Amino acid sequence: LASRDFHPENTVIDIKGVKIGGEELVIMGGPCAVESPKQIDEIAALVKAAGGQVLRGGAFKPRTGPYSFQGVGVEGLIMMAEAGQKHGLLTITEVMTPEYVDICAEYADILQVGTRNMQNFDLLRKLGTCGKPVLLKRGFSATYDELLNAAEYILAGGNPNVMLCERGIRTFESYTRNTLDLSAIPVLQQLSHLPVISDPSHGTGRRELVEPMSKASVAAGANGLIIEMHTDPDNSMTGDGVQSLFPDQFAALLKDLEKLAPLV
Ligand code: PEP
Ligand code: MN
Repeated sequence: LASRDFHPENTVIDIKGVKIGGEELVIMGGPCAVESPKQIDEIAALVKAAGGQVLRGGAFKPRTGPYSFQGVGVEGLIMMAEAGQKHGLLTITEVMTPEYVDICAEYADILQVGTRNMQNFDLLRKLGTCGKPVLLKRGFSATYDELLNAAEYILAGGNPNVMLCERGIRTFESYTRNTLDLSAIPVLQQLSHLPVISDPSHGTGRRELVEPMSKASVAAGANGLIIEMHTDPDNSMTGDGVQSLFPDQFAALLKDLEKLAPLV
């Protein structure tokens, strides 16, 4: 079902009028984690003002260590839904377990599967019947074929609205947090009809690389970008402040991107 061989035309996912996978570029922006109503409301206003269409933010965070901040949970879903509605943005949030799919689907417009859960097959099966579009992140050591097979689980369950996301893979290089695999963008678009989104934030782990790698992703044909932005990155509750853009950087980047591809 994911293969272009049996589905030659691009899948365009229409969410409340925002089309993902067509001619226009979709921008998802926001903090790594939802922290408070004020935080997410302020950031939502900035995403909207800059020309973004989707507010990102994790309520459930898949942290490498069990003692790190794990997200604010269901409260965060509510905070984000309110901010999205108020500012006229769609919302995307990560879901980590099958048990939480229904509640996440109730509050968010797009459900995100994180890199660590790309092969959580019970989760993928459950997302096949959740009724909401899914952004599936590539596992940090997964091949294209493994990513497409993971997408297949969701599609086979009856959900045709899947986006693939390149978010960087593990390589020998340690200067960057991950190595953003730009080739993934055209390869996945050749193999599949599904929209491809690039995540230059997790893909590099370094704020100063987000702008060039965003532009490179768009030049490579990405249908959208998911970018971390925070009003106070140095004091953000996850370690991802170092890769989060300041609001003015985010706005400047979107202005530049508009020259490369029309925003939705
Ligand atoms: C995130 O988007 O904040 C996140 C945890 O992403 P990934 O699963 O790619 O690490
Ligand atoms: Mn993050």
